[in-house]
Amino acid sequence: MNFYQSLYPQLDALGLQAWSQQLQQTLPDKLSLESHGMMAVWQTALQGLPGIRPSRIELKNGVEIGRAEDLVNVSHEELTNKLKAFHPWRKGPYSLFGVDIDTEWRSDWKWERVLPHIQSLTGRKVLDIGCGNGYHGWRMRGEGAEFVLGIDPTLVSVMQFQVMQRYLRDPQHHLLPLGIEDVPANLACFDSVFSMGVLYHRRSPLDHLLELKGCLRPGGELILETLIVEGDKATIFMPDGRYAKMRNVWFLPSIEAMILWLQRCGFKDIACVDTNRTGTKEQHRTEWMTFESLSDYLDPQDPTKTIEGHPAPLRAIFVATKP
Ligand code: SAH
Repeated sequence: MNFYQSLYPQLDALGLQAWSQQLQQTLPDKLSLESHGMMAVWQTALQGLPGIRPSRIELKNGVEIGRAEDLVNVSHEELTNKLKAFHPWRKGPYSLFGVDIDTEWRSDWKWERVLPHIQSLTGRKVLDIGCGNGYHGWRMRGEGAEFVLGIDPTLVSVMQFQVMQRYLRDPQHHLLPLGIEDVPANLACFDSVFSMGVLYHRRSPLDHLLELKGCLRPGGELILETLIVEGDKATIFMPDGRYAKMRNVWFLPSIEAMILWLQRCGFKDIACVDTNRTGTKEQHRTEWMTFESLSDYLDPQDPTKTIEGHPAPLRAIFVATKP
């Protein structure tokens, strides 16, 4: 499967010829049958999706592809079952020919909190680090971003993105099966760089911020969303073990501590533009994600605490500029 033919010329046009060359060598192996025990299932499922041209595409107010009437020779139920081969569907929601993919997360709610506070995406080249299945990338395209490059190492998410690409056929939106550690340092060419829901998974958060800065052109905007805790400049919380059952949570700063990190990393025009306590309507188990979810991670007696007794998830959005 070659998903990336239209990517390379765009990377070249950004001045990223060396990376483009390297990716042409390395990407084919990343989605090979050996890359994941489920890859053969996903590839077969992808190829088995009906070939239908959507009669409408909505990316600005949600991600809605086609209408129920577009489905011919395949029933709503058959399409539903084919899409469930890509379980767990965490980020969304999507509507595909009248099938509503009710994902674990209402990623649209996060987008509504982010969008009013960031520079217009029209005409911009965007990098989204840890983009999941590319949900926000579609919304960025809906806002007029010229080119969106997402990266995420979770292969089921990459394949979910390809489900949408089968119908959207968008050469200006790509998702690479990589982690940030695979992105070359100092690409220095993106107008906007997003890192949402990733920083607390990084053992070295300051290095993460410096890597993000390296991806931006001078004057470019960072949009960072992460878990925070209440407190002052000196407050940074490190869980002693799991946090909300997650093993890989490292640093949760206060708003002021996060601003200080961004300052020390050399960003300017730093602002915290939103805070939000994650609720069980925003993150919940659905028939499209049947594993545990937020309500299983919170203390049943006291929802302001995680099951481990830590402060329950509180999230903030920061914007900053690379000088
Ligand atoms: N940005 C999306 C998804 C957040 S979930 C949102 O805000 O809704 C965090 C994502 O980070 C997951 O999809 C996970 O696969 C990805 N991730 C984990 N390790 C990563 C790494 N080293 N580099 C980039 N992304 C990573």
